[in-house]
Amino acid sequence: KKYRKGSVDISRIKCVEVVKSDGIIPCQNKYPFQVVYDANTLYIFAPSAQSRDQWVRNLKEEIKKNSNIMVKYHPKFWTEGIYQCCRQTEKLAPGCEKYNLFENSVMRLPSPMPEKSARRPPPPVPPVEENGNEEEEIVVAMYDFEPTEHHDLRLEKGEEYTVIEKNDLHWWKARDKYGKQGYIPSNYVTGKKSNNLDQYEWYSRNLNRSKAEQLLRNEDKEGGFVVRDSSQPGLYTVSLYTKFGGEGSSGIRHYHIKETVTSPKQYYLAEKHLFNSIPEIIEYHKHNAAGLVTRLRYPVTPKKTTAPTTAGFSYEKWEINPSELTFMRELGSGLFGVVRLGKWRAQYKVAIKAIREGAMYEEDFIEEAKVMMKLTHPKLVQLYGVCTQQRPIYIVTEFMEHGCLLNYLRQKRGVLSKDVLLTMCQDVCEGMEYLERNSFIHRDLAARNCLVSDSGVVKVSDFGMTRYVLDDQYTSSSGAKFPVKWCPPEVFNYSRFSSKSDVWSFGVLMWEVFTEGKMPFEKSSNYEVVTMVSQGHRLYRPKLACKQVYEMMMMCWQEKPEGRPTFEDLLHTIIDIAEGEDAF
Ligand code: ADP
Repeated sequence: KKYRKGSVDISRIKCVEVVKSDGIIPCQNKYPFQVVYDANTLYIFAPSAQSRDQWVRNLKEEIKKNSNIMVKYHPKFWTEGIYQCCRQTEKLAPGCEKYNLFENSVMRLPSPMPEKSARRPPPPVPPVEENGNEEEEIVVAMYDFEPTEHHDLRLEKGEEYTVIEKNDLHWWKARDKYGKQGYIPSNYVTGKKSNNLDQYEWYSRNLNRSKAEQLLRNEDKEGGFVVRDSSQPGLYTVSLYTKFGGEGSSGIRHYHIKETVTSPKQYYLAEKHLFNSIPEIIEYHKHNAAGLVTRLRYPVTPKKTTAPTTAGFSYEKWEINPSELTFMRELGSGLFGVVRLGKWRAQYKVAIKAIREGAMYEEDFIEEAKVMMKLTHPKLVQLYGVCTQQRPIYIVTEFMEHGCLLNYLRQKRGVLSKDVLLTMCQDVCEGMEYLERNSFIHRDLAARNCLVSDSGVVKVSDFGMTRYVLDDQYTSSSGAKFPVKWCPPEVFNYSRFSSKSDVWSFGVLMWEVFTEGKMPFEKSSNYEVVTMVSQGHRLYRPKLACKQVYEMMMMCWQEKPEGRPTFEDLLHTIIDIAEGEDAF
């Protein structure tokens, strides 16, 4: 851009203010504030309330004379395509609350800065002791967790725990009701006070319309229901199953949970029955149909008890003791060597990759592995740890029963419905959106690098791994093994990788999915593909892909990277397609 990278000119700043947040903050520092400048908002996370207040106060002092100060601002975050304060979906929407430059909106502590130093730029903030007034955070366990190391704490589903330290994003220190302390996986608990719904068994994040219908039909229970995210960001839908559905043949209804425009907001399914929260609506309609086709009798959840993977097996544990691994059958082999099914501590099934000598830049990988272990998402194959004190080194990952997606597609030809194919693309898109959000580039996204779990969930694997391949034929864009057919022009011409080059590859992966595992540009050599793609030629529309799905692929194959959508955009599009046009 025109400006110096990594800096914001003070004169451009229009607003500095604390962000009022009642959700979980997925980063180590828990005290957010915002700096609005030009058409952008920068969110910054301070390590303590005191440090935040100091920054906000001092920055307000700095911008006091600016002529462009905002009259109104947004007190809450912009997330998931919406302002959490006023539900506006336009990023540049005018603020919804009056902005007061001369007052700190949630100042809890007096400023520690004496007046005379106020005009100096804020100093680097030393780590500030968490002050005793902070409320302790209570969380509820969503899954059982068995400790693997002595410093871990056992979690029991439904029990409450007090969080005492969040120095690591994935492993928090907590205390149970008996006073016992230890580390817990942060993705196994949910905030008790926060208005997030994860703690309820009837709520399923990321469940689309067709998956919900499948689930309810499988259960085949009168009054079976599930609450899921709507295609409209920030809103929720109740999907309800009845065997005696009257006219509609399927017997499944989808109801938007509506919101009033009053403040504070109220929620309802049936207009006459308003509630202050979603759990209250559900509780009410469990006992009263009140306009619904039947009452909400039976909460249905996909695979109720499968706990998510954790970032490694325990806090700060990436080195795995090889004597704790047992080897079982061979799963396959790839660029780096043979992959086998195994068990860790005779209990946890894992995949173990033994790295063939001369196949990998091992030192570089081992260094990066610590970062990669922290990438944790339900649609990414989890890296659990490494054994580096021996040769060959081992890479230990989550085991995926159905193996690689490409083979799975080929084996299941003619069996998988279009809905299932789209859901597979959604899985990959969710994993990739997480990588995009974390500025991590995959570089080799393709069906061969995704794996399928026992329940048919697709997860992205081998992210970033091509950087450690020693084989020139694979890494050089003119090499015989270079995956040209998955690459955009800026990659095969200039090796310019980005999240947008991953988007191109995702388009090709969608094509692989909707052709049930065909080879892209089947009859052409790599060299021919480079020429064809450079001239604007693209893959044809697979028979199973409807117009909207093919349009999505074509968006991914825009010649210029900036013309392509982000994974976040793609995810919204997939959800819209899955919802269908006849919804509600
Ligand atoms: P490489 O990274 O060395 O190229 P891959 O990751 O492609 O190796 O693995 C080779 C094969 O091993 C895959 O095609 C798949 O069949 C099997 N495999 C790899 N990882 C797993 C896993 N986590 N769970 C199940 N099977 C796996």
